[in-house]
Amino acid sequence: MPEKPIKFCNFCGKSEDKVQSIFTAGASNICDECVIYCYELLMGPLAKTKTSRKNENKNKSGDETTINLLTPAEIKSVLDEYVVGQDKAKITLAVSVYNHYKRIISQNNDDDDVDIQKSNVLLLGPTGVGKTFLASTLAKILDVPFAIADATTITEAGYVGDDVENVLLRLIQAADFNIEAAERGIIYIDEIDKIARKSENTSLTRDVSGEGVQQALLKIIEGTVSNVPPQGGRKHPNQEFIQINTKNILFICGGAFDGLEKSILKRINSSAMGFGAEINSKEKMKKNIFHKVISQDLVKFGIVPELVGRLPIITVLDELDEQALIKILTEPKNALLKQYKKLFDYDNIDLIVEDDALMEIAKKAIAQKTGARGLRSIIEDVLMQPMFEVPSNPDVTGIKITAKSINGEEKPLYITTVSYTHLRAHETLRHL
Ligand code: ADP
Repeated sequence: MPEKPIKFCNFCGKSEDKVQSIFTAGASNICDECVIYCYELLMGPLAKTKTSRKNENKNKSGDETTINLLTPAEIKSVLDEYVVGQDKAKITLAVSVYNHYKRIISQNNDDDDVDIQKSNVLLLGPTGVGKTFLASTLAKILDVPFAIADATTITEAGYVGDDVENVLLRLIQAADFNIEAAERGIIYIDEIDKIARKSENTSLTRDVSGEGVQQALLKIIEGTVSNVPPQGGRKHPNQEFIQINTKNILFICGGAFDGLEKSILKRINSSAMGFGAEINSKEKMKKNIFHKVISQDLVKFGIVPELVGRLPIITVLDELDEQALIKILTEPKNALLKQYKKLFDYDNIDLIVEDDALMEIAKKAIAQKTGARGLRSIIEDVLMQPMFEVPSNPDVTGIKITAKSINGEEKPLYITTVSYTHLRAHETLRHL
């Protein structure tokens, strides 16, 4: 009987005895190593962890932790695909998250008594600059459950509002009631600055507004076994509770901390900042000062020292300028404009947004002082009429948005096949 010819991978040239398997389609062969390599190329670093790193995350008992532990640089590079700018915050978060999950893995593996302390993170920055977005993107990258809570809706036990346990319940729900998974999740607490103690001077009669909520949060942030009512709402003595240990949950807190710059300024010697020479605008001055924040300033602001102590990593996110906003509109994987282009694409309509229009959108968003948050409503406003009209007008093949369409001086332009003339929104209706 003639011997079966040895197969070679057409990509790397290895023979079948040098690899685990070879897949054949017609006259072509590919080995398992090349398949994985191509998969990693297509899916980015996330895939790499899922394939080649899986074994590194096994603990001693052989259980596989389901954390995708990427290196800080890998985390940063995936964040870069979604979040524009904020490099310093991305690096700080990437390192903190990496250390956090290393710590969890080492708890399972180490015999020594060096206990690495949890390092929760505080994100400081104005509204709409990506604080929540960074936290949620991180959770997606690591494939861990994620929940968002607004500090202003949390109340002390016994008052009307959300108990801290409800925050945990949200995480448990995000984990589909898999408690083990929830215990390794991430919770983002927004508007932490709004629960600051009102009185700056701690030696005065204690102003407890906000302090009770801070104490309640402190408990879950520092690590406790909490009893969570499965249906949410208030605890009842006869209710069955879900027990969750919060010691490995990563808390990321965020806030604008308006006015914090004043106490930072007070603390530092203003002449050392080089006013006049380096700093030429009020905004720039504010930005630079925020970057000098230390824990002590947060205590002055009204966050209790114990809570500040549990948020040892502080990072500042900067205001987004026009260029950053234009990038947000056009560049990230799920950029707003890409989304609208896709929507129109379903109707075979080409959406063209001129560069000047992009600039105008960015300017408008800056004037609204809502960061990137305002972008969607500005675009939605201008595209509403076309989105209403064009699906019922088969002649329209394209829509052009100019700067004037953004500031309301003219309607979006319709490009049609029939007359090859440009029609404005509204006018087309008469041609239907
Ligand atoms: P906040 O800082 O107030 O938490 P968010 O993260 O909620 O702001 O931002 C609101 C939205 O704006 C996000 O969902 C995201 O779509 C967009 N966005 C904000 N900042 C950025 C950024 N730096 N890069 C990309 N998108 C951003």
